[in-house]
Amino acid sequence: MKVDYIIVGLGLAGLAFAEELVAANKTFVVFEDDSQTSSLVAGGVYNPVILKRFTPVWNAKEQLEVALPFYQKLEKKFNTTFDEKFLIKKVFKSIEDQNNWFEATDKPLLSAYLDPKIDNQKRKGILADFGFGNVNEAGRIDTKKLVELYREYLKTANKIQFKKFEHQQIKFREHHLEYKEFITNRIVFCEGFGMMKNLFFNYLPLNEVKGELIIIHAPDLDIDFLIKSTLFVLPLGNHLYKVGATFNWSDKTSNPSEEGKTELVEKLEKVITVPYKIVEQTAGIRPTVRDRRPLVGMHPAYNKLAILNGLGTRGVMIAPTVAKQLFNNLEKNEKLDVEIDIKRFE
Ligand SMILES: Cc1cc2nc3c(=O)[nH]c(=O)nc-3n(C[C@H](O)[C@H](O)[C@H](O)COP(=O)(O)OP(=O)(O)OC[C@H]3O[C@@H](n4cnc5c(N)ncnc54)[C@H](O)[C@@H]3O)c2cc1C
Repeated sequence: MKVDYIIVGLGLAGLAFAEELVAANKTFVVFEDDSQTSSLVAGGVYNPVILKRFTPVWNAKEQLEVALPFYQKLEKKFNTTFDEKFLIKKVFKSIEDQNNWFEATDKPLLSAYLDPKIDNQKRKGILADFGFGNVNEAGRIDTKKLVELYREYLKTANKIQFKKFEHQQIKFREHHLEYKEFITNRIVFCEGFGMMKNLFFNYLPLNEVKGELIIIHAPDLDIDFLIKSTLFVLPLGNHLYKVGATFNWSDKTSNPSEEGKTELVEKLEKVITVPYKIVEQTAGIRPTVRDRRPLVGMHPAYNKLAILNGLGTRGVMIAPTVAKQLFNNLEKNEKLDVEIDIKRFE
């Protein structure tokens, strides 16, 4: 069977690239083997500010300008909602923390997002002696719902195979590639941390940063904003809250651990005082890169193999922009931003 593209992996990266192909009427098939879980477990939060350092997220404005309409289009396509907008309330730890906030609200790239007024209102069940700072233009994409619906949609269209892609089975012909029963012009690898098993691209410096989350049920907590402290507490409705996330640089598995749970519970109890029950725990590996920029572009020796990876901790904001850039590079020969191009590692 002839297809224009094979996509390997259907997380946020694969999904964003597939949407480019759909819009351009290209034919394709996706391989997905459920080996990675990052896009399924992600908090899904988009936030234009790095609150730990009070700096803007890299290209935040430009990324949001592409990402928000992208998710809106998918909401129309599936006749549902994925994007929930909310305020992020940063919990201040000290007077110094408040002062840093005031300073940040004056910075040109941050003033649009950070509210200079401190919110001193007491809220039942939340420890915040120094008040809160409000971040605007933030929200959350329900990535699990989106990825699951997208896989269903591809299944109905006969465009996805729930199988492991075996890299050693690619046959390189003069003008095309063959993979089992498929003849294709290009293969785009969107494998997340699975890239480490990709014999063509595993020379790239992808680091694993495992993250764990818990979902709690807290009947006495009633908030419709995200609390940001040393972790986030994200309202899901019906008194359910997603709490996360941990950062672990040595564990390469996607399994929830006791250690992860203990860390989250200890941090959570410094933020909320009401009783709660843990109802779920999940984990995944964030595909991060040394220089914190995505990995995009064509293989230096095999020009029919391309990669879309390295979305790190911000897949929601980054994926739509970099998928578009890769598509325009492959189809229209437009140059990739040097910051994201894998040529930087040659
Ligand atoms: C705990 C946690 C919390 C997070 N919170 C946020 C957040 O709040 N906001 C945010 O923007 N980002 C967040 N992230 C990061 C975000 O999840 C990632 O940036 C993003 O999901 C990466 O998407 P991806 O498609 O590149 O990788 P993945 O989601 O890992 O997808 C890769 C896919 O490829 C498949 N695959 C791999 N190898 C093969 C193969 N050989 N054959 C077939 N299929 C294969 C895998 O099964 C997987 O489905 C979080 C991550 C974690 C772990």
